[in-house]
Amino acid sequence: HEFSDCEVHPALLKNLKLFGYQKPTPVQQYAIPVSLLRRDLMACAQTGSGKTAAYLYPLVAKMLNDGPPPPVERSDARPLALMLAPTRELSVQIYEEALKFTNQTGIKVVVVYGGASTAQQQSNLARGADILIATPGRLIDFIEKGIINLYLTRYLILDEADRMLDMGFEPQIIKILTAIKKVDRETIMCSATFPTEIQQIAHKYLRDFVYLTV
Ligand code: AMP
Repeated sequence: HEFSDCEVHPALLKNLKLFGYQKPTPVQQYAIPVSLLRRDLMACAQTGSGKTAAYLYPLVAKMLNDGPPPPVERSDARPLALMLAPTRELSVQIYEEALKFTNQTGIKVVVVYGGASTAQQQSNLARGADILIATPGRLIDFIEKGIINLYLTRYLILDEADRMLDMGFEPQIIKILTAIKKVDRETIMCSATFPTEIQQIAHKYLRDFVYLTV
């Protein structure tokens, strides 16, 4: 299996080459075709497995194939894709990888996280956010202030879902899962473990999902 097995945008293949992604890792081999088919996915995968690229690659492929969303008058950021992560460190890692995949594509990526001033994050959001990476608490703050709107969000990724629950983010996660109608979104949940709470969330909020463990 190769990345080029699936029909994808040349810009994306160029970025894979530029940033040294040669052969898909096992989680990527299984997750990429499933996500390109627009199925929901529950992936049990550890850090180091290549899980980030497993969801970023098909996301960027679909965004490039679908073309830009119609322009709208907007003063708030309306991301098409939202990635939730438990910590600042993980959200920055995802951001850095997202910059590689979206290099030279025109897709705008922004990261917001708690424990830092909102001013810089807010001015980054004002320049547009097609892909938004966020920690749950800061995201809810920005939504409540009218700075971020999930009205256009069609892709939702929960990374390290078990860790987000351990950190007490369940209410925020449920709020976000309920804010975007299930039929209107594609959802990918990544977790290192698969405890009952995660299983319940997957069954309730994912639609007819593929379960993948590597
Ligand atoms: P992750 O498990 O998503 O945290 O990724 C671990 C590291 O592996 C990151 O630094 C990625 O950039 C890198 N990586 C992921 N997939 C590949 C691949 N197919 N080829 C080369 N490096 C990769």
